[in-house]
Amino acid sequence: MLGDRRKVALMLLGWLAESLYWAALFFILAVAATSDAFGFYQPQEAFAEAVVLITLDGLRPEEVFSGADQRLIAADNGVKNPEQCREAYWREDREERRKRLLPFLWQMAEEDGWIAGDVESDSVVEVTNGKYFSYPGYNEILSGRADPAVDSNDKKHNKNVTVLEWLHQMPKYRGRIEAFGSWDVFPYILNAPRSGIPVNAGWQKFEGSVSETQQAINTVQELLFREWDGVRYDSLTYLAALDSLKRNQPRVLFVSLGETDDWAHGGRYDRYLLTATQNDEMIRRLWQATQSIDSYSGKTLFLVTTDHGRGDGREGWKNHGSTLPGSERIWIAAFGAGVELKGVDQGGRFQQAQVAATLAKALGEDLQSSREGIHEPLPIFRSSERQ
Ligand SMILES: [Zn+2]
Repeated sequence: MLGDRRKVALMLLGWLAESLYWAALFFILAVAATSDAFGFYQPQEAFAEAVVLITLDGLRPEEVFSGADQRLIAADNGVKNPEQCREAYWREDREERRKRLLPFLWQMAEEDGWIAGDVESDSVVEVTNGKYFSYPGYNEILSGRADPAVDSNDKKHNKNVTVLEWLHQMPKYRGRIEAFGSWDVFPYILNAPRSGIPVNAGWQKFEGSVSETQQAINTVQELLFREWDGVRYDSLTYLAALDSLKRNQPRVLFVSLGETDDWAHGGRYDRYLLTATQNDEMIRRLWQATQSIDSYSGKTLFLVTTDHGRGDGREGWKNHGSTLPGSERIWIAAFGAGVELKGVDQGGRFQQAQVAATLAKALGEDLQSSREGIHEPLPIFRSSERQ
């Protein structure tokens, strides 16, 4: 009798322990499924449904805010036809001059957006990585903080998790993020094998079931003269990005244009200017495409920036780096959904590293909760307090 009671008690105890075990397991799994790294991650107010992030490699704030530099429109700066170049880009008035170079960016900055980094408005956007060349710059833009270990442009897979990868881990963004770059290092910067984000960059061929546009890009890449081994023409990167917008409608599209930097290194000020204007037209067409697609129209934020500045003067403009003053200064523009601040920033101080959390915040996500040291979002959104 006593033995039986003990057996029943033991059975009940066993049943209770097992129930507790399963309850605890379910709780842990539920927390893990809805949170980030076992924290209590909460999405916040979203300002946009989609974000298009565009970078123009090494385009100086000098040209963005002041237009073409008269001193550099000269034969010794590689300008083949200085008279024609002056005719196209030089105007006495600074504001008129910058609109010649970047008409769409300035139209948006004045009508429906915000731009920072104009020294004449006492506005500063600085690169914090101290290196002032491409991989450290793109890492800072995309991961939200500088990493001293990123110290070369070598094709090494990024140890840092970019905002694109962080978003891509969440089910709602999986398969909804795409990247196109002119420079062939982007699959490494975005750590494509680990992040799972489709990245098409450099002269990389489109493979698998390709679209008509991708097929055409493949053909052109095969048959056209290549000015640079590691950088394809921006027009091809643009076409691929536009094709993705129309067919796949990603929620985050990263488009990195690269020719401005290469023409500058090549000492061709005329082509540096022309590329900037063509890049501006590509941004306009991408914007127009979003405005004609229901899932994007009125719901899309555009962020436009650069990886580094450049030096100054007749030689300095061609290069960039820690020994060339000016390389640390850049610019950031934002327009479209959610952007409350308007016009040219006056007296603000911002960092390149703020772009990542800004992109996340637009979508209602808090990147700063993911790791220590992530720079705060830019204060461009509705009801955000100016810092
Ligand atoms: Zn460069």
